[in-house]
Amino acid sequence: MKFQEYTLCKEIKQNLQELGYIKPTDIQYKAIPSILKGEDVLAIAQTGTGKTAAFVIPILEILYNRTRQKRHKQIQCVIMEPTRELVIQTARVCNQLAKQTSITTLGLLGGVEQDPQIAVLEKGVDILVATPGRLFDLISQGYVSLQNLKILAVDEADHMLDLGFINDIRQLLRHIPRYRQTLFFSATISPEIKDLAYSLVHKPVRIQISPKDPVSKNIDHFVSYIEMDDKRFFLEQFITSHSTNKILVFVRTKVRAERVKSAMERVGIATETIHGDKIQKERNQIMKQFSDGTIHVLIATDISARGVDIPNIDFVINYDLPDEVENYVHRIGRTGRGTQRGTSISFCSSSEKEMLQNIETFISKPISVLEIDKSTYKQTILESSEFRLPIKELLQEIDEIEIRKKKKKKK
Ligand code: AMP
Repeated sequence: MKFQEYTLCKEIKQNLQELGYIKPTDIQYKAIPSILKGEDVLAIAQTGTGKTAAFVIPILEILYNRTRQKRHKQIQCVIMEPTRELVIQTARVCNQLAKQTSITTLGLLGGVEQDPQIAVLEKGVDILVATPGRLFDLISQGYVSLQNLKILAVDEADHMLDLGFINDIRQLLRHIPRYRQTLFFSATISPEIKDLAYSLVHKPVRIQISPKDPVSKNIDHFVSYIEMDDKRFFLEQFITSHSTNKILVFVRTKVRAERVKSAMERVGIATETIHGDKIQKERNQIMKQFSDGTIHVLIATDISARGVDIPNIDFVINYDLPDEVENYVHRIGRTGRGTQRGTSISFCSSSEKEMLQNIETFISKPISVLEIDKSTYKQTILESSEFRLPIKELLQEIDEIEIRKKKKKKK
């Protein structure tokens, strides 16, 4: 069934059409009718499946019908997100899909001044998209009241747990009505997630998208065996031979991110990094530049890039394999989004083979190996620009010595 045949107001249908959303994705097909009926939903769906719109579309439709009857704006829906980037992204989807309606959304994030946010809150908003920190700050200062909340959505719940937000979520329950609709979305399910979910939802409809294969069908993913010290040469070669593509490179730590950046700089390749040490303004700017294509290679750590929706990423390179197996799915899920296709390659060193096995167990399949034969391996290292300069200089030096020798002989 196409979106145009759904019972949605004409404005939302028009906005869906403008975004090029013609048919619902699996998760949207399964979640939208239940949410519209007012049911609680517990959904296991990884990012890239269209899960954001799966809750935003029905939330907007519900609020559309409610705001028509209300004169005063009150916060009717809170969408909790684990990271600032996700707040920005989800608030953007809300705004895009709510165009021409009177529904307003505010993205509440920490790390930026609170006065402009307070000014918007004082005018009144329908939807708050927030990370726990700033939301609680503003609740305690009395700028946010959630007494009339109708819908609570918790997005990327597993990541909320990873970041230690479990108590914040529980604390939130003290500020919101007991009778509400709760939508709980998580990419993975664990006993802890189940506990959290069942403490929030009431008789939920359960939805699970491709449980056996958490990797989107749109992604081709491979592994190549490359030793730790050689990885930079292979990255250099990959970037050079895909100079028009958008490439996201994952590393394990902030320090590694900066090191890889410097290694690329040495061979004349411009990249940017995004990690927890960068201030929010800088992170936003880098994300914007990567989104619009000004930067074509971004080196990221897991935390900073989780859940982030950047259009048209062609390749995800796992320069380091992730410590947490779930992160493999999140990382490669940055490409092949919506209806697009994408490719991911993991560089696996001898010391990372166990991690690879764990990932394969987690996704219940072996990852196809992109074999590199010995001579190509050597060649890739030898062809690195890192060596080109010294060799040139060396040859020049040898020439000069020869000339000097000849001159001496003549004398
Ligand atoms: P998400 O899983 O919410 O991060 O969404 C992944 C990507 O899918 C985003 O870039 C969306 O714009 C895109 N998307 C979501 N729903 C649809 C749809 N019904 N048709 C086409 N693209 C979609």
